[in-house]
Amino acid sequence: MEDVRTTLLAKKAEITEQLALIQAPTEDHGSIDFGKRVGEGTSIAVDRLSQVAVHDKLRLASHEVDQALAKLDDGTHGICDVCGKPIGAERLEALPWAVLCVEDAARS
Ligand SMILES: [Zn+2]
Repeated sequence: MEDVRTTLLAKKAEITEQLALIQAPTEDHGSIDFGKRVGEGTSIAVDRLSQVAVHDKLRLASHEVDQALAKLDDGTHGICDVCGKPIGAERLEALPWAVLCVEDAARS
């Protein structure tokens, strides 16, 4: 179990680092400078949208890791949160922070 905890904590640190990179202030302070050509403005907006999407994904992953750490603490790591069945060694090897079995993960 300690290996799993080490893996989860390393994943958490990795996510936190990535989030910090995304949250780093951009030089143009979030406002689109209308002096810039439309093309530039649009690409900045697209960049920002993809940053938001990445940010949300990382937040979700961070939340999942927190849940998995809590399950380690209460001894339910490896048990699906929805159906209560074992998540399975193969899936946990691939995704140590998995809190749902394959079926319930596919449904969510
Ligand atoms: Zn399940």
